[in-house]
Amino acid sequence: MASSNKLSLSAKIFIAMILGAIAGLVLNLAGNPEWSQIWLIDGAFRVVGQIFISLLKMLVVPLVFVSLVCGSSSLSDPKMLGRVGGKTIALYLMTTAIAVCLALSAAVVFKPGIIDQEIATVETQIAEATPFTQVLIDMVPTNPVAAMADGQMLPIIFFAVLLGISITLSKETGVRVANWFQDINAIIMKLVTLVMRFAPYGVFSLIAILAATSSADSFAALGKYVGLVFAVLFIHALIIYPTILTVLGGLSPLKFLVKLKALVLFAFTTASSNATIPVTLETVEKRIGVSNKIASFTVPLGATINMDGTAIMQGIATGFIAQYYGIELAMSQYLMVVVMVILASIGTAGVPSVGLVVLAGVLSQVGLPAEGIALILGVDRLLDMTRTVVNITGDSMVTTIVAKSEGELDLDVFNDPDAGLAYERQPISK
Ligand code: ASP
Repeated sequence: MASSNKLSLSAKIFIAMILGAIAGLVLNLAGNPEWSQIWLIDGAFRVVGQIFISLLKMLVVPLVFVSLVCGSSSLSDPKMLGRVGGKTIALYLMTTAIAVCLALSAAVVFKPGIIDQEIATVETQIAEATPFTQVLIDMVPTNPVAAMADGQMLPIIFFAVLLGISITLSKETGVRVANWFQDINAIIMKLVTLVMRFAPYGVFSLIAILAATSSADSFAALGKYVGLVFAVLFIHALIIYPTILTVLGGLSPLKFLVKLKALVLFAFTTASSNATIPVTLETVEKRIGVSNKIASFTVPLGATINMDGTAIMQGIATGFIAQYYGIELAMSQYLMVVVMVILASIGTAGVPSVGLVVLAGVLSQVGLPAEGIALILGVDRLLDMTRTVVNITGDSMVTTIVAKSEGELDLDVFNDPDAGLAYERQPISK
């Protein structure tokens, strides 16, 4: 018992993940007997897994709101917000553009859709993505409480930033209210720590369900597509991001990546940038050293508008579907895909599978059959989990670069490999 307490949270989650995969595979190989379907997959694993996701989601709205009010009310210079916003959005768009261009080039060169066998399709319902003009209008909430109740990130961000600025402008009254928000923020962060303790059980259950219910056949037929998406995701995370971090931030990518360990595991198992926001905030503030002023704004914004991993899947999937149906895309259509992927991802919340919904809109814009999505749906969950890791890595990287450029990155924390590990190891009462 004593030795298990010495393990860091990420180590515990990692072990839980391996054990979950083994348990799931055993059930899968045993043909998922009825008892395991009833008692485990639809029973204990589902309950524990869903409770874990609900616990994380439960924190998102209060945490984003309170943290952002704290962040924006502590800005001494209101111009800083405009500057930070501009830089952040520019970097988010730039990294997404690189991602989708890389993906389309890979699809053109490696032609994953040219295969000589039929692919079994999975029944799918295609939803429409929201048009960009509507995203802009919806950014301003007519009712902030309704926006919070629905968990709509952009209107919450908008309202929280305005409230924070008004608090600063309200002088003494504002100081009292700001202090109150700071206290609530500290308490919610404690709640995040509590919830994270439950992660190993949740992760075990979610991975066990995935391993028990995945079919090797669908992966075999789509091997080239899956392999290509993985390869480009890895290149983006391990070559493109480190290069940008070094060139624009002058920071060591290795030190940065190592600190994301626990965060990566959370993103992978939940497949949701949104549900991961509490852990992303905790990581960039405590482990990497970004100030709350910057992180409270850039992290929730990134979870909503920055989805590089998703853009990679969408770029390759577009190439795949065009090739599978034998449709040649013109250069103008490729450019259209790039623009559509970037625009469509803005305003689409980071939740599981949303990338496919957005892809439907992209496909119909360039005249490809949106039903093509049915071809890749069967293998999407694992790709969704992996691209979510890239999505949150991008959010954290841009956050770090922006913080550094504003003098809001604590380099002592960034350079200290053990910084912020306290929340992983210390007893909760400390
Ligand atoms: N699951 C992804 C995320 O939350 C979005 C997607 O690609 O479907 O970031």
